[in-house]
Amino acid sequence: MSDCLFCKIIDGNIPAKKVYEDDRTFAFQDINPQAPTHVLIIPKKHVVDIKSAAPGDAELIGYCQLVAAKIAKERGLEGGFRTVYNVGPDAGQTVFHLHLHLLGGRPMTWPPG
Ligand code: AMP
Ligand code: ZN
Repeated sequence: MSDCLFCKIIDGNIPAKKVYEDDRTFAFQDINPQAPTHVLIIPKKHVVDIKSAAPGDAELIGYCQLVAAKIAKERGLEGGFRTVYNVGPDAGQTVFHLHLHLLGGRPMTWPPG
């Protein structure tokens, strides 16, 4: 997707602070961090969001969670962390390329805002 911000980050056309990369995913620091660790894990495939994902994307959606757990372990977040897929404008989604937020390094409240 030539007009997608996160596709441009994957392609290196927009700079980002890379945290992790493999054949299917790319992870980078959120530009407006909401916690000491705030990393976005995105599939290299352009998927808009959870609700418009295809059944064939299920493994990829779950795999992003495993990447988040790996990064959390590397960061020493043994006490806990939160992963969030915001879906749609009412949930605060502003970038329409699927991304998993990994948040940690501070106490998390529930329910979320
Ligand atoms: P969401 O609100 O769930 O769509 O999350 C989008 C996230 O992308 C927000 O937390 C933004 O701070 C983050 N973001 C937007 N532009 C960039 C960028 N160029 N580099 C890194 N993070 C970004
Ligand atoms: Zn994209």
